[in-house]
Amino acid sequence: MDININYIKELSEIIQLATYKRKPERYEYVYYLLCKKLETDIKKYNYCLFENNKCIAQRENEKWPKNKLDGCCFNISKKERCEYLSDKNCEINCVSCRLFTCKYLKRRGINFDVKKNVLVKYCMNLLQVREFIWNFFTPKDRILKNINRLKIRK
Ligand code: SF4
Ligand code: SF4
Repeated sequence: MDININYIKELSEIIQLATYKRKPERYEYVYYLLCKKLETDIKKYNYCLFENNKCIAQRENEKWPKNKLDGCCFNISKKERCEYLSDKNCEINCVSCRLFTCKYLKRRGINFDVKKNVLVKYCMNLLQVREFIWNFFTPKDRILKNINRLKIRK
């Protein structure tokens, strides 16, 4: 039953995607859907198991993240808490952060391979997919701008 519901949902998303004639609209739709799905899963499964501002990897003294609080919402190059973290919430809609899972979670089988997502496969090239993955601490508008700039090779 679940499989059928997921299949129908995926099909309706593909149909919706096809209604957008302009590529920027398609990218924005895929961005929106991915973030929505990932956020729903994060809330539903509570992978990071935060307690007193420490995620499970921090509480178990993993080698990474090096910072002691706020999980991986920490800008390593600036050596400070991410500027977009406000009252335990992310102020921007950064798809790269949503897609990220640390080694601790990966060892437990928690990973999201964006390259396997049917909508991503349908409308994005590899360079654009890289923009989705490697733009941590970056607001949605900037990521979409980068994606739109890249030449379409599909
Ligand atoms: S992804 Fe890993 S490091 Fe980041 S908050 Fe979750 S458990 Fe912590
Ligand atoms: S941008 Fe990323 S690192 Fe910063 S608060 Fe949002 S989710 Fe955390």
